[in-house]
Amino acid sequence: MAPQELRYDGQTVVVTGAGGGLGRAYATFFGSRGANVVVNDLGGSFKGEGANSKAADIVVEEIRSKGGKAVANYDSVENGEAIIKTAIDNFGRIDVLINNAGILRDISFKNMKDQDWDLIQQVHVKGAFKCARAAWPYFRKQKYGRLISTASAAGLFGSFGQCNYSAAKLALVGFTETLAKEGLKYNILCNTIAPIAASRMTATVMPPDVLENLKPDWVVPLVAVLTHKSNTETGALYEAGGGHVARLRWERSKGAVLKPDETLTPGAIIGKWNEVTSFKDADHPDGPGNAMELLEAATQQP
Ligand code: NAD
Repeated sequence: MAPQELRYDGQTVVVTGAGGGLGRAYATFFGSRGANVVVNDLGGSFKGEGANSKAADIVVEEIRSKGGKAVANYDSVENGEAIIKTAIDNFGRIDVLINNAGILRDISFKNMKDQDWDLIQQVHVKGAFKCARAAWPYFRKQKYGRLISTASAAGLFGSFGQCNYSAAKLALVGFTETLAKEGLKYNILCNTIAPIAASRMTATVMPPDVLENLKPDWVVPLVAVLTHKSNTETGALYEAGGGHVARLRWERSKGAVLKPDETLTPGAIIGKWNEVTSFKDADHPDGPGNAMELLEAATQQP
Protein backbone atom coordinates (compact mmCIF):
# COMPACT_ATOMS: atom_id res chain seq x y z
CA MET A 1 0.00 0.00 0.00
CA ALA A 2 1.44 3.38 -0.96
CA PRO A 3 2.06 5.65 2.02
CA GLN A 4 0.06 8.53 0.51
CA GLU A 5 -2.68 10.28 2.45
CA LEU A 6 -5.59 7.86 2.44
CA ARG A 7 -8.88 9.42 1.37
CA TYR A 8 -12.50 8.27 1.34
CA ASP A 9 -14.16 10.78 -1.00
CA GLY A 10 -17.68 9.86 -2.01
CA GLN A 11 -17.83 7.02 0.51
CA THR A 12 -20.17 6.82 3.48
CA VAL A 13 -18.77 5.71 6.81
CA VAL A 14 -20.99 4.73 9.74
CA VAL A 15 -19.30 4.90 13.12
CA THR A 16 -21.32 3.59 16.05
CA GLY A 17 -20.73 5.09 19.48
CA ALA A 18 -19.06 8.08 17.80
CA GLY A 19 -20.09 10.66 20.39
CA GLY A 20 -16.89 10.22 22.39
CA GLY A 21 -13.66 8.30 22.89
CA LEU A 22 -12.45 6.15 19.99
CA GLY A 23 -15.61 6.58 17.93
CA ARG A 24 -15.26 10.36 17.93
CA ALA A 25 -11.63 10.03 16.79
CA TYR A 26 -12.65 7.74 13.89
CA ALA A 27 -15.56 9.97 12.87
CA THR A 28 -13.55 13.20 12.83
CA PHE A 29 -10.76 11.49 10.89
CA PHE A 30 -13.10 10.19 8.18
CA GLY A 31 -14.83 13.58 8.09
CA SER A 32 -11.47 15.22 7.39
CA ARG A 33 -10.66 12.77 4.59
CA GLY A 34 -13.64 13.35 2.33
CA ALA A 35 -16.13 10.78 3.64
CA ASN A 36 -19.80 11.30 4.48
CA VAL A 37 -19.98 10.31 8.13
CA VAL A 38 -22.91 8.98 10.15
CA VAL A 39 -22.14 9.81 13.76
CA ASN A 40 -24.20 7.36 15.78
CA ASP A 41 -24.42 7.66 19.55
CA LEU A 42 -27.12 6.83 22.06
CA GLY A 43 -25.54 9.27 24.49
CA GLY A 44 -26.03 7.25 27.69
CA SER A 45 -23.66 6.61 30.58
CA PHE A 46 -20.73 4.22 30.24
CA LYS A 47 -22.87 1.68 32.11
CA GLY A 48 -25.58 1.91 29.46
CA GLU A 49 -28.03 4.11 31.36
CA GLY A 50 -29.96 7.01 29.82
CA ALA A 51 -29.83 8.60 26.39
CA ASN A 52 -28.95 12.02 25.01
CA SER A 53 -28.60 13.48 21.53
CA LYS A 54 -25.87 15.91 22.60
CA ALA A 55 -22.89 13.54 22.25
CA ALA A 56 -23.53 12.83 18.56
CA ASP A 57 -24.53 16.44 17.81
CA ILE A 58 -21.26 17.85 19.15
CA VAL A 59 -19.19 15.54 16.93
CA VAL A 60 -21.33 16.30 13.86
CA GLU A 61 -20.81 20.02 14.52
CA GLU A 62 -17.07 19.47 14.94
CA ILE A 63 -16.85 17.71 11.54
CA ARG A 64 -19.05 20.28 9.77
CA SER A 65 -17.15 23.23 11.24
CA LYS A 66 -14.03 21.93 9.49
CA GLY A 67 -15.84 21.57 6.16
CA GLY A 68 -16.68 17.87 6.48
CA LYS A 69 -20.00 16.11 5.86
CA ALA A 70 -21.74 14.42 8.76
CA VAL A 71 -25.17 13.59 10.14
CA ALA A 72 -26.18 12.39 13.57
CA ASN A 73 -28.08 9.26 14.52
CA TYR A 74 -29.21 8.70 18.12
CA ASP A 75 -30.46 5.11 17.97
CA SER A 76 -29.08 2.29 20.05
CA VAL A 77 -26.98 -0.10 17.99
CA GLU A 78 -29.59 -2.70 18.91
CA ASN A 79 -31.67 -0.86 16.32
CA GLY A 80 -29.07 -1.21 13.56
CA GLU A 81 -31.57 -0.84 10.70
CA ALA A 82 -32.33 2.74 11.75
CA ILE A 83 -28.63 3.62 11.82
CA ILE A 84 -27.97 2.25 8.34
CA LYS A 85 -31.18 3.94 7.13
CA THR A 86 -29.72 7.28 8.25
CA ALA A 87 -26.74 6.62 5.95
CA ILE A 88 -28.94 5.65 2.99
CA ASP A 89 -31.47 8.47 3.49
CA ASN A 90 -28.79 11.15 3.75
CA PHE A 91 -26.02 9.92 1.50
CA GLY A 92 -27.57 7.16 -0.62
CA ARG A 93 -24.95 4.55 0.27
CA ILE A 94 -22.85 2.86 2.93
CA ASP A 95 -19.26 1.75 2.34
CA VAL A 96 -17.71 1.38 5.78
CA LEU A 97 -19.22 0.21 9.07
CA ILE A 98 -17.25 0.60 12.27
CA ASN A 99 -18.90 -1.30 15.09
CA ASN A 100 -17.47 0.61 18.01
CA ALA A 101 -20.29 1.42 20.47
CA GLY A 102 -19.87 -0.16 23.86
CA ILE A 103 -20.61 -0.07 27.56
CA LEU A 104 -19.21 -1.68 30.69
CA ARG A 105 -20.97 -3.41 33.60
CA ASP A 106 -17.94 -4.53 35.61
CA ILE A 107 -18.64 -6.73 38.62
CA SER A 108 -17.07 -9.92 39.96
CA PHE A 109 -18.53 -13.14 38.57
CA LYS A 110 -19.87 -14.06 42.01
CA ASN A 111 -22.04 -10.94 42.10
CA MET A 112 -23.01 -10.65 38.45
CA LYS A 113 -26.74 -10.18 37.82
CA ASP A 114 -28.60 -11.29 34.71
CA GLN A 115 -29.04 -7.65 33.74
CA ASP A 116 -25.27 -7.01 33.80
CA TRP A 117 -24.74 -9.98 31.52
CA ASP A 118 -27.67 -9.30 29.17
CA LEU A 119 -27.02 -5.58 28.63
CA ILE A 120 -23.42 -6.22 27.65
CA GLN A 121 -24.33 -8.95 25.16
CA GLN A 122 -27.14 -6.78 23.73
CA VAL A 123 -25.01 -3.72 23.08
CA HIS A 124 -21.76 -5.35 21.97
CA VAL A 125 -22.85 -8.55 20.25
CA LYS A 126 -26.43 -7.99 19.19
CA GLY A 127 -25.66 -4.36 18.34
CA ALA A 128 -22.79 -5.35 16.03
CA PHE A 129 -24.97 -8.06 14.47
CA LYS A 130 -27.89 -5.71 13.83
CA CYS A 131 -25.75 -2.98 12.28
CA ALA A 132 -23.79 -5.44 10.12
CA ARG A 133 -26.92 -7.25 8.97
CA ALA A 134 -28.56 -3.99 7.94
CA ALA A 135 -25.44 -2.90 6.00
CA TRP A 136 -24.82 -6.30 4.38
CA PRO A 137 -27.35 -6.16 1.50
CA TYR A 138 -25.87 -2.80 0.40
CA PHE A 139 -22.32 -4.14 0.65
CA ARG A 140 -23.23 -7.23 -1.38
CA LYS A 141 -25.13 -5.34 -4.04
CA GLN A 142 -22.32 -2.85 -4.67
CA LYS A 143 -19.66 -5.55 -4.25
CA TYR A 144 -17.84 -3.38 -1.77
CA GLY A 145 -17.78 -3.12 1.99
CA ARG A 146 -15.36 -2.58 4.85
CA LEU A 147 -16.33 -3.64 8.36
CA ILE A 148 -14.49 -3.26 11.65
CA SER A 149 -15.48 -4.95 14.89
CA THR A 150 -14.13 -3.89 18.24
CA ALA A 151 -12.86 -6.61 20.54
CA SER A 152 -10.73 -6.11 23.63
CA ALA A 153 -7.77 -7.57 25.48
CA ALA A 154 -10.37 -8.48 28.11
CA GLY A 155 -11.95 -10.86 25.62
CA LEU A 156 -8.68 -12.31 24.38
CA PHE A 157 -7.03 -12.85 27.73
CA GLY A 158 -9.76 -12.50 30.38
CA SER A 159 -10.01 -9.65 32.85
CA PHE A 160 -11.01 -9.65 36.51
CA GLY A 161 -14.58 -8.40 37.00
CA GLN A 162 -15.38 -8.42 33.28
CA CYS A 163 -16.65 -11.91 32.43
CA ASN A 164 -19.72 -10.43 30.69
CA TYR A 165 -17.61 -8.02 28.64
CA SER A 166 -14.90 -10.65 27.94
CA ALA A 167 -17.50 -13.07 26.58
CA ALA A 168 -19.01 -10.40 24.33
CA LYS A 169 -15.68 -9.15 23.04
CA LEU A 170 -14.37 -12.59 22.08
CA ALA A 171 -17.74 -13.37 20.47
CA LEU A 172 -17.07 -10.50 18.09
CA VAL A 173 -13.84 -12.14 16.92
CA GLY A 174 -15.68 -15.27 15.79
CA PHE A 175 -18.54 -13.21 14.38
CA THR A 176 -16.18 -11.12 12.28
CA GLU A 177 -14.11 -14.07 11.06
CA THR A 178 -17.30 -15.65 9.75
CA LEU A 179 -18.40 -12.43 8.06
CA ALA A 180 -14.94 -12.23 6.46
CA LYS A 181 -15.48 -15.68 4.95
CA GLU A 182 -19.02 -14.94 3.75
CA GLY A 183 -18.12 -11.48 2.47
CA LEU A 184 -14.93 -12.29 0.60
CA LYS A 185 -16.43 -12.95 -2.81
CA TYR A 186 -18.36 -9.68 -2.61
CA ASN A 187 -15.24 -7.69 -1.72
CA ILE A 188 -16.56 -7.15 1.81
CA LEU A 189 -13.49 -7.17 4.05
CA CYS A 190 -14.02 -7.61 7.77
CA ASN A 191 -11.41 -7.24 10.50
CA THR A 192 -11.35 -6.98 14.28
CA ILE A 193 -9.32 -4.64 16.44
CA ALA A 194 -8.54 -4.79 20.14
CA PRO A 195 -7.74 -1.15 20.96
CA ILE A 196 -6.27 0.50 24.01
CA ALA A 197 -7.02 4.18 24.47
CA ALA A 198 -7.81 6.84 27.00
CA SER A 199 -11.57 7.33 27.19
CA ARG A 200 -14.24 7.58 29.85
CA MET A 201 -14.13 3.76 29.87
CA THR A 202 -10.49 3.60 30.90
CA ALA A 203 -10.38 6.88 32.87
CA THR A 204 -11.03 5.13 36.17
CA VAL A 205 -8.81 2.08 35.67
CA MET A 206 -5.54 3.62 34.41
CA PRO A 207 -3.33 6.33 35.96
CA PRO A 208 -3.36 9.79 34.25
CA ASP A 209 0.29 9.61 33.06
CA VAL A 210 -0.41 6.33 31.24
CA LEU A 211 -3.65 7.67 29.76
CA GLU A 212 -1.80 10.68 28.38
CA ASN A 213 0.11 8.42 26.01
CA LEU A 214 -2.96 6.47 24.94
CA LYS A 215 -4.76 8.95 22.72
CA PRO A 216 -7.65 7.49 20.67
CA ASP A 217 -5.89 9.18 17.73
CA TRP A 218 -3.19 6.52 17.87
CA VAL A 219 -5.75 3.80 17.06
CA VAL A 220 -7.24 5.69 14.09
CA PRO A 221 -4.47 4.99 11.52
CA LEU A 222 -4.91 1.20 11.71
CA VAL A 223 -8.67 1.54 11.26
CA ALA A 224 -8.01 3.91 8.35
CA VAL A 225 -5.78 1.35 6.63
CA LEU A 226 -8.18 -1.57 7.18
CA THR A 227 -11.20 0.35 5.88
CA HIS A 228 -9.52 1.88 2.84
CA LYS A 229 -10.28 0.62 -0.67
CA SER A 230 -6.62 -0.36 -1.09
CA ASN A 231 -6.82 -2.84 1.81
CA THR A 232 -6.79 -6.55 0.98
CA GLU A 233 -6.60 -7.99 4.51
CA THR A 234 -9.67 -9.72 5.90
CA GLY A 235 -10.57 -11.99 8.81
CA ALA A 236 -7.67 -10.79 10.92
CA LEU A 237 -7.28 -9.51 14.46
CA TYR A 238 -5.08 -6.57 15.46
CA GLU A 239 -4.07 -4.79 18.63
CA ALA A 240 -3.53 -1.04 18.53
CA GLY A 241 -2.80 1.57 21.16
CA GLY A 242 -0.20 4.02 22.39
CA GLY A 243 1.88 3.75 19.24
CA HIS A 244 1.96 -0.05 19.04
CA VAL A 245 0.20 -1.94 16.25
CA ALA A 246 0.37 -5.73 16.03
CA ARG A 247 -1.46 -8.69 14.60
CA LEU A 248 -2.61 -11.68 16.64
CA ARG A 249 -3.23 -15.26 15.49
CA TRP A 250 -3.94 -18.71 16.81
CA GLU A 251 -1.20 -21.19 17.59
CA ARG A 252 -1.77 -24.96 17.62
CA SER A 253 0.65 -27.40 19.22
CA LYS A 254 1.72 -30.26 17.03
CA GLY A 255 -0.32 -32.39 19.41
CA ALA A 256 -0.41 -36.06 20.27
CA VAL A 257 -1.78 -38.70 17.94
CA LEU A 258 -3.60 -41.50 19.73
CA LYS A 259 -5.19 -44.57 18.19
CA PRO A 260 -9.00 -44.10 18.33
CA ASP A 261 -9.82 -47.35 20.17
CA GLU A 262 -10.10 -48.57 23.75
CA THR A 263 -6.45 -47.61 24.37
CA LEU A 264 -7.44 -43.92 24.14
CA THR A 265 -7.78 -43.46 27.89
CA PRO A 266 -7.12 -40.55 30.27
CA GLY A 267 -3.88 -42.34 31.18
CA ALA A 268 -2.82 -42.42 27.51
CA ILE A 269 -3.31 -38.66 27.28
CA ILE A 270 -1.34 -38.08 30.47
CA GLY A 271 1.41 -40.22 28.93
CA LYS A 272 1.57 -37.87 25.94
CA TRP A 273 0.92 -34.64 27.83
CA ASN A 274 4.20 -33.08 26.65
CA GLU A 275 3.22 -33.60 23.02
CA VAL A 276 -0.27 -32.17 23.65
CA THR A 277 1.03 -29.01 25.28
CA SER A 278 4.44 -28.31 23.73
CA PHE A 279 4.52 -25.43 21.26
CA LYS A 280 7.74 -26.69 19.70
CA ASP A 281 6.98 -27.12 15.96
CA ALA A 282 3.57 -25.47 16.46
CA ASP A 283 1.66 -24.11 13.51
CA HIS A 284 -0.63 -21.09 13.07
CA PRO A 285 -3.87 -22.44 11.67
CA ASP A 286 -6.62 -20.44 10.04
CA GLY A 287 -9.06 -23.33 10.28
CA PRO A 288 -9.72 -26.59 12.10
CA GLY A 289 -7.27 -29.47 11.61
CA ASN A 290 -7.88 -31.62 8.56
CA ALA A 291 -10.13 -34.31 10.05
CA MET A 292 -9.32 -36.94 7.40
CA GLU A 293 -5.55 -36.46 7.71
CA LEU A 294 -5.73 -36.58 11.50
CA LEU A 295 -7.86 -39.72 11.48
CA GLU A 296 -5.49 -41.42 9.05
CA ALA A 297 -2.48 -40.61 11.25
CA ALA A 298 -4.34 -41.83 14.32
CA THR A 299 -5.42 -45.14 12.83
CA GLN A 300 -1.85 -45.80 11.65
CA GLN A 301 -0.63 -45.71 15.25
CA PRO A 302 0.81 -49.00 16.44
P1 NAD B 1 -16.53 5.44 25.26
O1 NAD B 1 -17.44 5.16 26.40
O2 NAD B 1 -15.82 6.74 25.23
O3 NAD B 1 -17.30 5.30 23.86
C1 NAD B 1 -18.34 4.41 23.64
C2 NAD B 1 -19.49 5.17 23.01
O4 NAD B 1 -20.52 4.25 22.67
C3 NAD B 1 -20.08 6.21 23.94
O5 NAD B 1 -20.08 7.50 23.33
C4 NAD B 1 -21.51 5.70 24.19
O6 NAD B 1 -22.47 6.72 24.36
C5 NAD B 1 -21.76 4.86 22.95
N1 NAD B 1 -22.78 3.84 23.16
C6 NAD B 1 -22.91 3.03 24.24
N2 NAD B 1 -23.97 2.21 24.06
C7 NAD B 1 -24.51 2.52 22.86
C8 NAD B 1 -25.60 2.00 22.13
N3 NAD B 1 -26.38 1.02 22.62
N4 NAD B 1 -25.86 2.50 20.92
C9 NAD B 1 -25.11 3.52 20.40
N5 NAD B 1 -24.08 4.06 21.07
C10 NAD B 1 -23.76 3.56 22.28
O7 NAD B 1 -15.48 4.24 25.21
P2 NAD B 1 -14.27 3.89 24.20
O8 NAD B 1 -13.13 3.53 25.05
O9 NAD B 1 -14.11 4.91 23.16
O10 NAD B 1 -14.82 2.51 23.58
C11 NAD B 1 -15.07 2.30 22.20
C12 NAD B 1 -15.04 0.81 21.92
O11 NAD B 1 -13.72 0.30 22.14
C13 NAD B 1 -15.96 -0.01 22.82
O12 NAD B 1 -16.53 -1.06 22.07
C14 NAD B 1 -15.01 -0.57 23.86
O13 NAD B 1 -15.51 -1.75 24.44
C15 NAD B 1 -13.78 -0.81 23.01
N6 NAD B 1 -12.53 -0.90 23.75
C16 NAD B 1 -11.97 0.22 24.29
C17 NAD B 1 -10.76 0.09 24.95
C18 NAD B 1 -10.07 1.27 25.53
O14 NAD B 1 -8.93 1.12 26.01
N7 NAD B 1 -10.66 2.44 25.51
C19 NAD B 1 -10.15 -1.17 25.11
C20 NAD B 1 -10.75 -2.27 24.52
C21 NAD B 1 -11.94 -2.12 23.84
